Amino acid sequence: MIIVMKHHTTTEEIDAVVRHIESLGFKAHLSQGEERTIIGVIGDERPVEPELFELLDGVERVMRILHPFKLASRDFHPDDSVVKINGVSVGTSQVIIMAGPCAVESREQLMETAAAVKQAGGHILRGGAFKPRTSPYAFQGLGLKGLELLREARDAHQLPIITEVMSPHEVTLVAQYADILQIGARNMQNFALLHAVGEIQKPVMLKRGMMSTVEELLMAAEYVLSHGNSRVMLCERGIRTFETATRNTFDINAIPVLKSLTHLPVIADPSHGTGKWELVTPIARAAIAAGADGVIVEVHCDPAHALSDGAQSLKPDKFAVMVTEVRRIAEAMKRTV
Ligand code: PEP
Ligand code: MN
Repeated sequence: MIIVMKHHTTTEEIDAVVRHIESLGFKAHLSQGEERTIIGVIGDERPVEPELFELLDGVERVMRILHPFKLASRDFHPDDSVVKINGVSVGTSQVIIMAGPCAVESREQLMETAAAVKQAGGHILRGGAFKPRTSPYAFQGLGLKGLELLREARDAHQLPIITEVMSPHEVTLVAQYADILQIGARNMQNFALLHAVGEIQKPVMLKRGMMSTVEELLMAAEYVLSHGNSRVMLCERGIRTFETATRNTFDINAIPVLKSLTHLPVIADPSHGTGKWELVTPIARAAIAAGADGVIVEVHCDPAHALSDGAQSLKPDKFAVMVTEVRRIAEAMKRTV
């Protein structure tokens, strides 16, 4: 942290700031220029709020040097992290495709979709058993039955599964079935849930909250990492903006921004990022071109009758086209699918 003192500060004011820095266990490094004094705070500044120094007499402004997230930062972990999930590695030169229905609706629906995902070259099967719906009257998911069906589909098609967990009390249950636990956008800052998934040794995919900054996403990841779980992936799924042409605004910038700030794998969700099936493939292509390590997309055999998110679900034939096109982009980026 760097503390810039005001013009004409007194020696007493400078000494008081130095004493304050030392009382917090840091070292102070003084740089006395002709016009002003700058004081460097030496040590891990993350637990300290810079605003507190601004309260001291003679202080003009305070600047952080270190990112407030540590374990998620590339500063201390320059190489990409690879998250291994039952034979599938996320964060390598291979782009990973996760696909499946928004919600598990029935055995028939899930098995048919899983077969299509496998056939087209998907690597991981998605499907919600516990659904975070805006309306309490909307389909809430099949719960435990949905988890059992996911396990059946995984065994039948040899596809690891990703499914959402919404509450800390359900983490143990969902972890018994899932290969990856998804934290949904609405729960990105559910700190009790982040703590709970931090204490188990199962990969976690953390989705960006619809009104959260990249830094808030990384701080949420820091919760999981700091509780001992290092297998964290991040997911950009669109944010809310003034634009109404699409359900959300897919923040393409977030992908290279995240890739530069963190070593954690970054997944793109063009289904929730756009809300329209026609836009899913173009945004999936763009996300891979921007450096994403994978995509997660919704696939449904009969979107018109889907119990959730039909409008943004690809039919299996369109999904197969998406995989082919994403593969071409990946190859242009010297990656594979
Ligand atoms: C989902 O993946 O179906 C979902 C609810 O996503 P999000 O949390 O990004 O809205
Ligand atoms: Mn959905």
